[in-house]
Amino acid sequence: MATYIVLLGPPGVGKGTQARILSETKKLAHISSGDLFRENLKNQTELGKLAKSFMDKGELVPDDVTIAMIKDRLSRPDCEAGAILDGFPRTPAQADALEAMLKNFSGSVDAVPYITAAESILIERASGRWTCRAQGHIYHEKFNPPQKDGVCDIDGSEVYQREDDKVETVTKRIRVYLEQTMPLVEYYRKAGKLIEVDGTRQVEQVTKTLFDALKE
Ligand code: ADP
Ligand code: ADP
Repeated sequence: MATYIVLLGPPGVGKGTQARILSETKKLAHISSGDLFRENLKNQTELGKLAKSFMDKGELVPDDVTIAMIKDRLSRPDCEAGAILDGFPRTPAQADALEAMLKNFSGSVDAVPYITAAESILIERASGRWTCRAQGHIYHEKFNPPQKDGVCDIDGSEVYQREDDKVETVTKRIRVYLEQTMPLVEYYRKAGKLIEVDGTRQVEQVTKTLFDALKE
């Protein structure tokens, strides 16, 4: 049966970084809702234009279009064995929709690692984040800089600072997270799927905690 893992946690905590590692190790597709929106933005699709108006303000894109986008992504062949979901679901309505979608593939959410860190750490991480233009590879100006300034180590494309990674927008996104996404912690705890992971330490240590927790 397919395996579906949802990474839950506030903006900047390290979900994308860990999702990439998990996806490579477990040979599961990595689905990042933020990356999908940014891809649409780059290709100037209608969805991209709509999403931009919310993303720039640090607000959530409406549930209906977000759910439709993920449904489409999950039905592609590379998700046959399952997926690591990064940044989706972010509201209870999205979580309900996800369960309904996965039923169609005779699956369900298997585990929900919930990565946490203090707000000051989130702001430091998100506001120093650099993102690769071509494929969304993630860097940090201090904690994980690319070897050559402004150039992605992996695909050689430009590395840029996301418009919504300015301190004011990051602060707003954390507030939106607390209001709209935090209810999912109880949602998945009640379902017996939540695994709390301390995201404070270095990437390798967080990865180890995450893998150990998933083994249990
Ligand atoms: P999220 O997807 O949760 O927003 P990211 O994985 O994009 O978070 O990480 C946010 C920023 O923090 C990036 O610049 C990344 O390089 C950096 N980062 C991620 N995990 C750690 C960590 N454990 N220690 C220090 N920096 C980290
Ligand atoms: P982060 O890595 O910091 O958590 P993301 O790249 O996941 O940020 O998301 C960036 C923006 O994309 C969000 O602020 C929001 O506007 C939009 N977005 C991403 N995922 C969702 C979602 N599941 N529901 C609604 N909006 C989303």
